[in-house]
Amino acid sequence: MMGVTETIDRSEALRAYGRGDAGQSAISVQQVTKSFMNAEGDAIPVLSGITMDIRKQEFVSIVGPSGCGKSTIFNIIAGLIEPSSGKIVVGGEEIGRSTGHVGYMMQRDLLLPWRTILDNVTLGLEVKGLSKKERYDTAMAYLERYGLDSFAKAYPSTLSGGMRQRVALIRTLVTQPDIILLDEPFSALDYQTRLVLEDEILSILKNEGKTGVLITHDIEEAISVSDRVFVMSKRPTFVKKTYEVGLAASHGSAMKARTDAAFKQYFEEIWSELDIQMGRIS
Ligand code: ADP
Ligand code: MG
Repeated sequence: MMGVTETIDRSEALRAYGRGDAGQSAISVQQVTKSFMNAEGDAIPVLSGITMDIRKQEFVSIVGPSGCGKSTIFNIIAGLIEPSSGKIVVGGEEIGRSTGHVGYMMQRDLLLPWRTILDNVTLGLEVKGLSKKERYDTAMAYLERYGLDSFAKAYPSTLSGGMRQRVALIRTLVTQPDIILLDEPFSALDYQTRLVLEDEILSILKNEGKTGVLITHDIEEAISVSDRVFVMSKRPTFVKKTYEVGLAASHGSAMKARTDAAFKQYFEEIWSELDIQMGRIS
């Protein structure tokens, strides 16, 4: 089976990296707070003023303690829920509810088992009102571009976990959002598959000129793929520290980023940043 990476010219992906609108703001999260009601009706503050500026064509990661509100930030950026205060500015405009500016691969974004791979990929296009032929042509073009066309007629259950995640990403890409939100897309995969997919997905997003935001538990993953890593505090949550990493960009690959001497250093810094929060040291 042909790997997806083989279909991507890395040097081309890297040229894309510094091209076009890079440097301009893609998403600006401004002093966003969010509280949820608990069963007793008390407002529990989850986000206590999140501010981050993500640049066009940048790939950033968000790491933070479990339950600190990472998925909640994505839900707010995607316009699925409203912040208690603060705002999200995308392309210079404050977003309203459920706008189509972002592609969102949710934490449990499963393929529909009764639909073929092709019909899963066309799903995102159905709401756009394209004709059946347009939907199929567009979906097939993406599947071909990333070496998945031979699976078009297959059902999800016949694919490995890694292949299913590739398809889920393609399903997100076909609607051509500028920004892709990825909520722990690799957490259910074995270690080797995760390494390969991290590398591929970064290449795909760079190749497509997208802005990517990844939520991950895995500090090594964050360091290997990111231009920057945002470390969140525990609840009520704010951005505790931002790391300018950029190892994948300088090596042209997330896999090679792991061989950089600075990799271990970033790991130790980010680990200790999180360690203190989780109370492991005290
Ligand atoms: P993370 O993704 O960082 O693990 P979440 O964003 O899923 O965290 O959740 C953060 C906190 O907010 C958790 O305590 C969770 O229980 C709570 N929470 C999330 N969504 C809701 C909701 N719709 N109603 C009430 N509480 C919620
Ligand atoms: Mg989550």
